[in-house]
Amino acid sequence: MDCIFCKIIKGDIPSKVAYEDEYCYAFHDINPQTPTHILVVPKEHIPSCDGISAENSIYVAKIFEAIPKIAAAEGLANGYRVITNCGDDACQTVKHLHFHLMGGRKLPENMG
Ligand code: 5GP
Ligand code: ZN
Repeated sequence: MDCIFCKIIKGDIPSKVAYEDEYCYAFHDINPQTPTHILVVPKEHIPSCDGISAENSIYVAKIFEAIPKIAAAEGLANGYRVITNCGDDACQTVKHLHFHLMGGRKLPENMG
């Protein structure tokens, strides 16, 4: 499958790892929008939020267990934002579910 994030998980495309476990892989965004901008992705290919089901939701649960650990390791004690873009209206560009973990400065209130 021609999925850039599956290739990153496999190590076929290099990335700067922030965290990894059996269920998820976290790496620094290539084009950071905030001082800290990490992408947290499931190790199983799930295309987007729309692809989450009872069969694979363990990946999402594990990602959200990992996020506070990653945030703490990155020094985001003052807060952070977690975002997932789903589909065209949200400008999802990579069709492998991912959560943007963003912080390192005060973020704007407006989210859309
Ligand atoms: P989306 O717009 O789909 O929510 O977010 C995709 C994100 O993936 C973007 O922030 C983009 O900068 C990041 N990205 C795309 N290709 C690569 C890559 O090859 N390596 C890394 N580290 N990030 C990528
Ligand atoms: Zn994938």
